[in-house]
Formats: sequence, C-alpha cells, structure tokens
Amino acid sequence: MPSIVYYGSPRQARLEASETLPAKLDLILERLNLRERVKGETVLLKMHTGNNIVYSTVHPVFVRRVVKAIKEGGGKPFIADVNWDVDGAETRGYSSEVLGCPVYPAAGPEEQYVYAHERPFKNIQKWLVAGMVQDASFLVNFAHVKGHPSCGFGAAFKNVALGCMAGPTRGAMHDTMQFDPYWFPDLCPDEAVRQRILAACPFEALVQDKQDPRGIHMHPEQCNACGRCLKVAPPGSLKIDAVNFHAFQEACAISTAITISTFAPGKAIHLGLATHMTPVCDCFGFTSMPILQDAGIFGSDDIVALDRAALDATAGQRLLEENIPTCMEVHTRQGHPFRWLHGPLKDPYLVTEYGARLGLGSLEYELVDVLPVEKFDRAGMAYISAGGA
Ligand code: SF4
Repeated sequence: MPSIVYYGSPRQARLEASETLPAKLDLILERLNLRERVKGETVLLKMHTGNNIVYSTVHPVFVRRVVKAIKEGGGKPFIADVNWDVDGAETRGYSSEVLGCPVYPAAGPEEQYVYAHERPFKNIQKWLVAGMVQDASFLVNFAHVKGHPSCGFGAAFKNVALGCMAGPTRGAMHDTMQFDPYWFPDLCPDEAVRQRILAACPFEALVQDKQDPRGIHMHPEQCNACGRCLKVAPPGSLKIDAVNFHAFQEACAISTAITISTFAPGKAIHLGLATHMTPVCDCFGFTSMPILQDAGIFGSDDIVALDRAALDATAGQRLLEENIPTCMEVHTRQGHPFRWLHGPLKDPYLVTEYGARLGLGSLEYELVDVLPVEKFDRAGMAYISAGGA
C-alpha cells in the first residue's frame, strides 16, 4: 500500500504569504497531526545546523514554526546535531532565542554520550547512537535536500544516518567505501605506470597511500567514475566499482534503521525542504549556487517515501550546469540530475531501495498537494504599498 507524502509547491498563485513555503509547512504539520501526537513527548527536532558560513540549511523561519507546533501540542522540543555543527550554530541563526527551544550537541560536547548497537556491516561492528537521540521519545526529522559527494544526494536518510551517530561511527561509515579492495599492486609492477594512474585523475581522487609505497588510496567523494584512470591502469589492477560506492548508501540505510528502532512505532515524522539545493553537503561550511530549481516541501511518516518523493520531484529537472563549481564536471546525462553531477556510481535512489529492503518504508507513495497552485486566465496583482503616500 502506498504511503502518503504531503507536499507544498514552491510556486504560488497570488502574492500572499499564505501561499508560500512556511505556510505550506504549517498545513503539512496539520495533515500529519503533529500537535496531537507529541503531547507529553520529549521531541528531538533533528536538523542539520550547517557549519561555518553556510546559509542554505533549513531557515530558522521554518524551524521555529515546527518548534511552536510541538509546544502547542504539549511536547517538549529540543534541536540536536553533531557537536562541530552545533558549535557556532547561533552565528547561522540557530539559537534558543530565535528558535524557541535549546540546541544541543546530540552526543554531548565531546561526543562521549552514546549507546552502542551491535550490527556487523563491513568494517563496522558497533554503531554509536548519540545519547540525546536515543533518550528522546519522538523524532521530527527535518532535512534540507541537496547534493552529496559520497552518495549523490542528502536528505531525510542522510540527516538521520550521519547526524544521529557519534563521530567514530560517522567516520567508520565513510570507511565502508574502502572495505572492498580496489587496488591490486601485483598487477601493476611498473612504478612509472602507477605514477601515470595517479596523474590521470583530474580531481585528485587517487593519491599515494600513506602506509604503502606501492599503494593507491582512493577518495570516493572526489571520484565521478569518469574512467580516465582505468584507461591507464593495467587490466584488473584498479577497480572503480559499485561495491565500494554503494557501501556508503547501504550503511546510511542501516544506520537510519538502528536510530529509528529506538523510537516506538508511530513516533517519528520526516520533513524535507528542497530549496537552494547545492552540489555538496551543508557540513562543507559554505553555500554554492543552486544546481536545481526549488522543488518545495515534503512531509511524511515514511522516510523512504519522503526521500523518494523529493527525488522524483527533481528527477525531471534540468541540472543548472552553468551554476556548478568549475572544478566539477558532468560526463553522464542519464538518470537523476544528482547522478549527472556526482557520477553513475552515486545513484541517489539507492539509499531508498536499501531502506525499503530493511522495512523502513515504501517505495510507492501518493503525493498529496496541501495547497495546489491555482491557474488564472486573468487576475489583478495585489500590491503592498511601501507606505508614505
Ligand atoms: S574514475 Fe574516479 S578516480 Fe578515476 S580518474 Fe575518474 S574521477 Fe578520478
């Protein structure tokens, strides 16, 4: 049975605040019955507070409305994110004075407050869920939709998968991409050839291995699978393989499943804001030009359906190639535009497929527009005077 995803278009018919995204967020919260569901709950509002001078994260205007709704419903909200993003969050507008509730480092200031969950996956044995995440009784997962260099895109899954785990687990999740071997030095005995392989990558995704003078280390975040290195490497000596790239997305799905399992059934909602979608994650600490047009706001009980809906809403868009940083390139135009940007091995849909396999939700959904945009044949334009005359 398809899940319901509530949706607010970024477009408006009239020049009125009631038709803009914050007002549509209110309608989505009503349709999700948030107020009725949070009475007496300790509510974690998980969002990405960004870093340094990023300004494209979920704007405080939106966050404050969610906090207000939780309080009106009798819940006790707090915002949490990883320690290095919370440190200085007030410089980006995320303070208790502005938002109406405290902003905490999810695993404490030194990331020592954790709960360990045993679940072997590649290099990971124990997953360290942030203490304040597991202690909360209700989750509001409010994500900014954007690109991501490890998996093509980051939204609701990414916000929980990385942002609710402590530092050692976040690092280990990235290391899953290194778990399966990709460099086989015995098949490339000629040092001059090895140097040519290193030099072949224009993105410095291949570098000298610090531990092994004959080794090659790959930074998968910087690799878009263009294949230049493979044209130089002797057959079989180097693999640019799906198994390494997909590992991160599977790890994100497992991480999300572990975190969500700490909440009782029905005690989580997911929100996604698809505006000012940048090429890479908000943790980079800056905001680049948008690479897709704004696509709106989404809300659902189902995290799989929510990310799927955000991807589908942007799938038919043209990648704004004139806006991408000049250090990046597009060499494929197949699939989702995030895949064009980050390469064919970083299909953004994958995390939703892994999530569905783990029983986190449905790939099928019904999109319910909370305020469909009216079309006018003819209409006067309301005008708000600047005052004076
Ligand atoms: S396939 Fe990846 S590592 Fe190889 S040259 Fe292209 S970007 Fe660099």
